Amino acid sequence: MDLNTNIQFLNKIGEATAKRFSRLGVKTIKDLLYFFPFRYEDYSQSKKIVDLEIGEKINISGTIEMIQNKKSSRKKMTITEALVSDGTDSIKIIWFNQAFILKNLKIGDRVSLSGKIENDFGSLIMKSPNYEKIFQENNIHTQGLIPIYHSTANISQKQIRFLIKNSLKYLNLLEDIIPSEILTKLKLEKINQAIEKIHFPRNIKDIDLAQKRLAFDELFLIQIKSLLLKKSLSNKKAQNISFFEEETKTFVNKLDFELTNSQRKVSWEIIKDIAKKTPMSRLLEGDVGSGKTIVASLILFNVFLDKKQSAFMVPTEILAEQHNETLVKLFENYKINIALITGTKSLLNNKKTDKKKISSMIKNGKVDLIVGTHALIQKNIQYKNLSFVVIDEQHRFGVEQRKTLLEKSGLKKDFSPHFLSMTATPIPRSLALSIYGNLDISIINEMPKNRMKIITKVINNNKEDKLYKFMEKEILKGRQVFVVCPLIDFSEKLEVKSVEEVFENLSNNVFPKLKVEILHGKLKNTEKESTMNRFKNKEIDILVSTSVIEVGIDIPNASIMLIEGADRFGLSQLHQFRGRIGRSSYQSYCFLRTESKSEQSRERLHALEKHNNGFELSKIDLKMRGPGEFYGLNQKGFPELKVATLFDYELIKLSRKIAEEIISYSPDLKKYPILAKRLSNFEENIHLE
Ligand code: ADP
Ligand code: MG
Repeated sequence: MDLNTNIQFLNKIGEATAKRFSRLGVKTIKDLLYFFPFRYEDYSQSKKIVDLEIGEKINISGTIEMIQNKKSSRKKMTITEALVSDGTDSIKIIWFNQAFILKNLKIGDRVSLSGKIENDFGSLIMKSPNYEKIFQENNIHTQGLIPIYHSTANISQKQIRFLIKNSLKYLNLLEDIIPSEILTKLKLEKINQAIEKIHFPRNIKDIDLAQKRLAFDELFLIQIKSLLLKKSLSNKKAQNISFFEEETKTFVNKLDFELTNSQRKVSWEIIKDIAKKTPMSRLLEGDVGSGKTIVASLILFNVFLDKKQSAFMVPTEILAEQHNETLVKLFENYKINIALITGTKSLLNNKKTDKKKISSMIKNGKVDLIVGTHALIQKNIQYKNLSFVVIDEQHRFGVEQRKTLLEKSGLKKDFSPHFLSMTATPIPRSLALSIYGNLDISIINEMPKNRMKIITKVINNNKEDKLYKFMEKEILKGRQVFVVCPLIDFSEKLEVKSVEEVFENLSNNVFPKLKVEILHGKLKNTEKESTMNRFKNKEIDILVSTSVIEVGIDIPNASIMLIEGADRFGLSQLHQFRGRIGRSSYQSYCFLRTESKSEQSRERLHALEKHNNGFELSKIDLKMRGPGEFYGLNQKGFPELKVATLFDYELIKLSRKIAEEIISYSPDLKKYPILAKRLSNFEENIHLE
C-alpha cells in the first residue's frame, strides 16, 4: 500500500463505492487525503440534557432507553423513534426514512448525538441528528468540529469521514515539498500535520494553521512553475511577426462596430510585443463582455498574413465552436485555413473533416489557425511553425498547458511561440503581477460604448406572474431569454433533472406558444451545437440550461436572464452568467430568483444589484462566506487553487519570495528532490491527458 494505491484496497470499501468516489475525483489514497472539507459544523459544545435550550445546535451523549421504527400515518415514511437519557433528563430523537438505524443502535448503547434542539409540543426533540456509538476512540461524526464534504447522493458524510480517518495512517508516506528549515522559519505546519488538521481540527486555530499551509503549497507551486517557465523562455527566441497596417485598417473598418480606445491600446501593445524576436508572455485582462475576442482576432489576422501558424485554446467545446464560427466568418474573404479540434469534433473551414487528415495538415503547416479545447495538446497533434498562441479564459488552465504547447510547436529547438492569455478575472495589476510575475499585462478597462447597465433584481416566487409577463413582453419585442438552473451538489444527474423540470414547466404551462429549449451537459454534442446555433439564429425564444453557458457564450440578442436557485452560486459565477447578457444596445435584465430565507444569503445576492465589477464581487463573496467555510463548488478560481484565494495577498508575496529563493539557490532543483519529483509528476499527468 502506498499513496497511489486505489482506495478500493482500503479496508471495508468495495469496487462499487470506489467507483462512486472516483466521480468526486477521488481515486487514490492521496486523492482522499487531499479531498478537503468545505466547511465544518461546530459541535464542540456539549451539554447535559437538562440544560438544553430550544434552537441551539449542540452535542449530547447518553444511553438509548428505547428505540423503534414506526410508519407515519399520512406519508409513507418510516420514522425511527428513540429516547436517550443521560441521567439528568431524557430527550426524544427521530430520524426519517432511515430504518436501518435500528440495526446499528440498540437499547443500552451509549451514543453521541449532534443536531438542533427543537420544540415538540412543549417538550424537546432532536430531528435527524448525526449519531455515533461511543467507543474508546475519538468520535469523529458528532463531537468537536465536524468536517462537511462535497458529496453526491450516494456517498454519505459518514462514509467519507470514516475512509479519511482510515487513510490518515498513510500520511507519514507523504513527503513534504518544503524543507523543514523553511517551514520552521515561516511558522508553517508540516504537510502531514496540516492535512490531519484540515480534516479533524481540534479547534478553529487548527483550521487556520492547516489552511495556511495548504494555501501556501498551492501558491508556491504556481510560483515555482511560472518561474521555471520564465527561465526556460528567457533564453528562447521567437519569430517576429510583422504588422500589416493597411490590411489591419481595412479589416477593422469592416467590423460592424468601432473598437474602444482600450481595445486599440491593448492591440497595439500586443502588436509591438510580437514584433520582437523574444517570445511574448502577456495576460490580457478584461471583464466579461469587454471584447477580448476581437483583439485576439486582430492579432491572429496579422500572424496569418505573416504566413505563420497560430492556435486558440479555450476551456469548453461550446466556446471552441463559437470562436471557430466567429473566426471563420471574420476571415471569410481571406484564404485562411481554420481548423476546429475538440474531444469529439474536427472541422476544417467549418466542414466536417477526418481528424487524422486535419492533424497531418497541421503538421505539414497547411492549417493556419487551429481553434480547440484541451484536444489541442493531445499526443497526436503536432504543429509546424506555431508562432502565436491564445489561451482564452486562462484561469481555467495551468502553467503546464503552455509548456506542452511550446514543446509541440514544431519550432526550432531554442524557439518559442508568443503567448497571449486572456482572462475575465479582473484582478488589479499589482496583484496579477505577483501571481503571474512572468507575464506582462494588458488591461481593457472600458466597455463598448453601446452598452447599458444591466438591471439586476433579486426576486422570489411572489413576483412570478409579473416576471413571466415581463419576459413575454420582451420576447414579443424580439429579445431572447436565458434561464439558468441551480447547481445541485456534484451530481450531474440531479442537475439535469432540475433543468428538465424547469423546462417542462416553462414550455408546457407558462409559455406554451413560445419556443422553449433545453441545454445541458448530458446532451450529445451535435444536439448541443444545433441548439446553440438555433438560439443564435433566433429560432429559440427561451433557452433553459445548466451552468454550461457560464463562460464566453456570445448571443447579443439575448437580453434577459433568469437564474433559478441563485443562492446556490457564488457571486463571481453569477457575474459570469450575467455577462452573457448586456452584450448589445438593448436594455438587459437579470433576475436572481431565490427562496432562501437566510438574511445573509439574500444580502449576498443584493450585492449583484449594486456592483458591476467582477473583482469587487468576488471580494464581497469571500467576505460574506461563513466562518470555517473556505472553498466552495462555486468558487471557479484557478485550476490549482482549492484552498488559497486571490486575496491571500501576503501569502502570495511570501510564496513568490520563497520560490525565488529556492530557484536561485538550486536552479535545477537538485537540492530539492521531493519538490522536483512533484513537479515532474505534474508534467507526466499533463502528457497523459
Ligand atoms: P469577452 O471579453 O467577454 O470575451 P467578447 O469578445 O465575447 O467579450 O465580446 C462581447 C460582444 O461584444 C461580442 O458580441 C462582440 O462582437 C462585441 N464587441 C466587441 N467589441 C465591441 C465594440 N468595440 N463595440 C461594440 N461591440 C463590441
Ligand atoms: Mg470571451
